[in-house]
Amino acid sequence: MIDPSVKDFTLPMAAIEPLPNFRPRVLVTLIGFLCLIGLLFMPAGHSQAAVIVLDPGHGGNDSGTGRSSEFPEKQFTLALAQKIASQLAARHQVELTRTADIQMAPADRAAVANHLRADLMISLHTAVAPFCTDRSVAVYYHYDERLSLPSGNSIQGNPAELDANRPVWAKLQDRHQHRSQYLAATLKQALENSATFDSVTVSGVPLVTLMGADLPAVLVEVGCIHPVGASNPQTLKQQLNGYADSIANAIEMALPGLLQ
Ligand SMILES: [Zn+2]
Repeated sequence: MIDPSVKDFTLPMAAIEPLPNFRPRVLVTLIGFLCLIGLLFMPAGHSQAAVIVLDPGHGGNDSGTGRSSEFPEKQFTLALAQKIASQLAARHQVELTRTADIQMAPADRAAVANHLRADLMISLHTAVAPFCTDRSVAVYYHYDERLSLPSGNSIQGNPAELDANRPVWAKLQDRHQHRSQYLAATLKQALENSATFDSVTVSGVPLVTLMGADLPAVLVEVGCIHPVGASNPQTLKQQLNGYADSIANAIEMALPGLLQ
């Protein structure tokens, strides 16, 4: 409705005429040039922003390996997740399934990632000496071999029956298996190229932490916790920093293929 008290409202000409020095084409060209410069100087492997969930294994009464150590697995995985998160936080939304020493059910960990509609989830664990070396890393994706065997070949039951007995949440990871395998293979390649690890393996195993994850997800088990006594704090810090740098870089390398 027009206000009748306003009888003659005329914009001054200066308000509707373009500013004399305004050059739209120059502005567009300048923006294009700045974008090009940005692309040229973008670090290798840089990807678009993603939602990344890091899951520090164990917590609370569940110390994981190295229970007798002053730095058990649950502490190690949390410190590692926090360091990886700090590396990625400038470019991505990074969330941890736990940020304190609390116990979490495996299904709740995947539920955090599902709730956030995350692009990928990485569960972090540490192996225990003497079954590992400090420079080894294993990447696992969820794969239940029993469900893939032809009927009658499994000594643990009929695959169709096993599948029918699984709750719905336990089947969520199935439809992401190829992308999780891609994630595992890409992480392997990037971790092999880093100077941090001598040995990187990839395997498919049944993983209760990941079977309910409705997104690409893998479990990464790094190096060693030495079961008796704590490592030298300085050595431990260097070890954590090296792992975190390599894993953060590997995640960046894997993202472009996952976000397509
Ligand atoms: Zn563990």
